Amino acid sequence: MSNLIKLLPDNIANQIAAGEVIQRPASVVKELLENAIDAGATVIDVNIKDSGKTLIQVVDNGKGMNAADAILCFKRHATSKVRTADDLFSLTTKGFRGEALASIAAISHIQMKTKTSEEEVGQSILMEGSELKKQEEVVCPVGTSFEIKNLFYNVPARRNFLKKESTEFKHIQDEFERIAFAHPELGLTLTHNGSEIYNLPSAVLRKRIVNILGGTANDKLVPIDEETDIVSLKGFVIKPEHARKTRGDQFFFVNDRYFKSTYFNHSVTKAFDGLLKQGTYPGYFLYMDVDPHKIDVNVHPTKTEIKFEEEKFIYSILLSSIRQALGKYNIAPTLEFEQETSFNIPHAMKSQTPVEPSIQVDTEFNPFQTQGRSNRSSSATGRTKENLTAAISNEGFGVNKATSSEWENFYSIEEEKPAIEENYPPIDLDDSVGNASSFLVKGSYIITPSKSGLMMIHARRAIEQIVYSKIHKSFIVNPIESQKLLFPLERELSKHEITLWLENKTILNQLGYSGELEGAILKVNAVPSVIQEEAISNSLDEIFESIGYKDIDRGEIAHTLVLAIAKSAAMKKLNLANNESIQALIDQLFQCDNHAYSPRNKKIIETITLDEIQHKFG
Ligand code: ADP
Ligand code: MG
Repeated sequence: MSNLIKLLPDNIANQIAAGEVIQRPASVVKELLENAIDAGATVIDVNIKDSGKTLIQVVDNGKGMNAADAILCFKRHATSKVRTADDLFSLTTKGFRGEALASIAAISHIQMKTKTSEEEVGQSILMEGSELKKQEEVVCPVGTSFEIKNLFYNVPARRNFLKKESTEFKHIQDEFERIAFAHPELGLTLTHNGSEIYNLPSAVLRKRIVNILGGTANDKLVPIDEETDIVSLKGFVIKPEHARKTRGDQFFFVNDRYFKSTYFNHSVTKAFDGLLKQGTYPGYFLYMDVDPHKIDVNVHPTKTEIKFEEEKFIYSILLSSIRQALGKYNIAPTLEFEQETSFNIPHAMKSQTPVEPSIQVDTEFNPFQTQGRSNRSSSATGRTKENLTAAISNEGFGVNKATSSEWENFYSIEEEKPAIEENYPPIDLDDSVGNASSFLVKGSYIITPSKSGLMMIHARRAIEQIVYSKIHKSFIVNPIESQKLLFPLERELSKHEITLWLENKTILNQLGYSGELEGAILKVNAVPSVIQEEAISNSLDEIFESIGYKDIDRGEIAHTLVLAIAKSAAMKKLNLANNESIQALIDQLFQCDNHAYSPRNKKIIETITLDEIQHKFG
């Protein structure tokens, strides 16, 4: 029997490779631009017809090729950039696979003109489907010009697969912009069907970004600059108030190469936490310089994914330097913070400009003295007790009631106080972690020292988790603690709600609710003791909504109801005025099986490590 295995002819091998490297006209633009940059060009002109289907022309003033190289460059694995395997780990060029020109040649018609400064005349080369059709001498300037015509002429599937012209051109423009952002030092033009899309002169980075984004961009940029041993980071982020509804302006570069990273994007997004309007995305142009030995650009054929050896470190550098930059430019105080709908601040306070909390240590503060302090008004926040109380009672939060349960620990049984500025425990320099002071920021976040740094706890989510865990564990065996209402709460139910009440009465009783239905009126006379009076009505809404309008499994009902109760329980006023009550909350949280996430999968705990803290101080 004859041998079955045969080597593929070169042109077929090239076509197969082309499928990976050249997906669309934009891929050609990218490869040709990269080659021009590797050849040391300072000016590159890109001219496109019909979104690249008819013509892609790239002209550079780089070092050009001599007669022999002008032919060799179209061979597969022909590259001037990598000589030894070691070179692969210290890449400073964009190309290195020697695949691009061979691939493009396999699926198009190419006219190339090139000349080096040493030669008297240049070379003109004509290629069609990997075949050399013509080579002749030509008069041309130093540099290289490529004209790619009839792309995918012999791969009809690929040609038919191309998207509409505007889409293909958008891809070309994207590739062009990535190069333009990465190389502000280059003079670049992009022309499409005779009209000039970009004419970018060589410029400093900031000017280049403004030239691409448009005139008003300059005011929107916040500079980032951070030098460390592992990475040098520079660039700009867009001020959060100018964030866009699309992810368009998100650019990472490493060693002048554009790349995508969901991991690093996560870090940047986190740095913007709380600063962005809902539905908008941070804009950034971030440039990293990293030792080429510590990245691997080889993981993806089109090289937009890059492996970093020290990605965790870079993640935190991104996070801290962007946060710091945003803080420095005083952006935080002028923004509205995103609110979780369930925990909205009273309406009347919304008109006030939020101000960053500042820590003030009251030397006269005596933790055992409860009188008198709440009258102190805060000049820093402009919030006085009077206007805050007014705001609160406008919203009907004024009712207070002592409950007999352990939940009392965290719930206010006294007058609501301004959440910020007051109630900070005194700073005791001798505090060790064991009995350290914890405090509440913005009435919402507990800050507490931990062994490895600082821990921040989302107080309401913590309560939600604590309530959820307790009820969930116990209610099947022991009905959960219920409190009788002195005056039954009356509520009119819709037909749908009546059905829901009747269907789920038993389980609702076990969960602590009881009531009489008279016609369409439900007289609620007992509720779970974790629910404060002002949240009762809301808890019923929550219950009907959670089981009524979604298609949930019978088996899921209990879980859903417990979730609804936990959510309502977390909506009451927090009484975390002193270290003890905060500590009690932390202790209870850590008794939960899952203390990291709330039952609705929201993050409860965030930490700042000592390293991060140290880093902030440089
Ligand atoms: P790679 O860029 O991976 O080396 P390519 O197929 O893109 O592979 O290019 C092959 C070789 O052709 C390059 O290594 C370079 O020597 C040469 N070359 C390509 N484009 C140019 C150009 N615009 N100017 C000068 N030399 C070029
Ligand atoms: Mg190349």
